[in-house]
Amino acid sequence: MKYVSTRGNAPEAAFLDILLSGLAPDGGLYLPASYPPVGRDELDRWRTLPYADLAAAVLGRFVTGIAAADLERLCRQTYTAQVYGHGRPDSDAAQIAPLRWLEPGLALLELSNGPTLAFKDMAMQLLGALFEYALARSGERLNILGATSGDTGSAAEYAMRGRPGIKVFMLSPHGRMSEFQRAQMYSLADANIFNIAVEGVFDDCQDLVKAVSNDLEFKRRLRIGTVNSINWARVAAQVVYYFKGYFAATKRSGERVSFAVPSGNFGNVLAGWIARCMGLPIERLVLATNENDVLDEFFRSGRYRLRAAAETLATSSPSMDISKASNFERFVFDVVGRDAPLVRRLWAQLDARGSFDLAGTPHWQAVRSSGFVSGRSTHADRLATIRELHARSGLVIDPHTADGLKVAREHLSPGVPMICLETALPAKFAGTIVEAIGRQPERPAGYADVESRPQRFTVLPADMERLKAFIETHVG
Ligand SMILES: *Cc1c(COP(=O)(O)O)cnc(C)c1O
Repeated sequence: MKYVSTRGNAPEAAFLDILLSGLAPDGGLYLPASYPPVGRDELDRWRTLPYADLAAAVLGRFVTGIAAADLERLCRQTYTAQVYGHGRPDSDAAQIAPLRWLEPGLALLELSNGPTLAFKDMAMQLLGALFEYALARSGERLNILGATSGDTGSAAEYAMRGRPGIKVFMLSPHGRMSEFQRAQMYSLADANIFNIAVEGVFDDCQDLVKAVSNDLEFKRRLRIGTVNSINWARVAAQVVYYFKGYFAATKRSGERVSFAVPSGNFGNVLAGWIARCMGLPIERLVLATNENDVLDEFFRSGRYRLRAAAETLATSSPSMDISKASNFERFVFDVVGRDAPLVRRLWAQLDARGSFDLAGTPHWQAVRSSGFVSGRSTHADRLATIRELHARSGLVIDPHTADGLKVAREHLSPGVPMICLETALPAKFAGTIVEAIGRQPERPAGYADVESRPQRFTVLPADMERLKAFIETHVG
């Protein structure tokens, strides 16, 4: 299995070459040279596997350079009831990603039972194990630099905490995260985790990361890396739960299902696209956006139009507040028949004019037959969806998952189960839950007192030299 860049001007690479890197050297994103097909017999054999073994089987199709027995061990160490046992009291932790039927034909795939209560733990915990394994083998060290407004940073810290050879420098906007999110990150006591509270907003944090990463000499000398959503291994690890959800919702391989996915950077739903390309019988991939609807606009009209910062709204499903979708290029590469020169032209047009349009091109038909449909959900929709489900079943879902459920209901088709991916637990977004149902969401056991634990962080001004000096004095 070799990996190629969406821009077509980078050398082919192996899994271990791209594991620790971000963009390809030509500015593109890596994808497998072809998707490994999975036949009916294999589906039958995988159907009964426990999650960890299913993960090893699926990832085994994408990973080279790691012995099968080692990959299986890493998956078994990662996908345990202990790591993924932070969900609702009636969730089956041993299942890892349990399926819960909401009504006949409509189910919730619980992906948010990991340590940070969001689906990013599903892939990030494995990424931590893979990083540790690869670094131990090469004798190298890695310093992860990132910026976060919440979910990604905490998932990365909980995945990398205590791992030898790895340090994490995570920038967050000082005083601008929810109390719960801040407590979750800043209360980590591990010596390899550095929380840096930047005097500024999230964009300042991101600009600092970019500025430091552009200093190639510094980046190389201090072995700076990232774990953002374009990391291929994260996408690959997310493919696994589409298989898991499929097996849990069907009795026989060959039956079809649909998935509904609350989307931002297009990482989660891209994994569904890849599962479909591998042969998993997926009827529809229902992409849900909030008011920041750049992806919904594309799937309705063919036009992909980036939003300016001022046009990007702060909503009550904040992890979907994006102005462009960083993984979208991988889907476009596939849907234009892997024509890399065309991808280069489209992205040059994005840089120059902020948009491109596939409608009226021969590729629009490929988009229409890709299985993707989309929809949009607003603050009022989220509240109504949370309220309605709670009134009917007593179950409380988070605002992002509510966006997914709202759009899923618009695309139900008889005889095809719809599986909604749960991307966070409601405890992370208490304000919106109170607004919807008039009471606080329940907190999983062990999170009751998170705000009262001692916090560890360093406040820095939004200044690149100060940040570099901090990193220099703390790297291993
Ligand atoms: C990250 C995130 C999303 C968006 O996922 P993408 O892979 O970026 O599309 C949705 N909901 C929650 C809760 C998230 O943390």
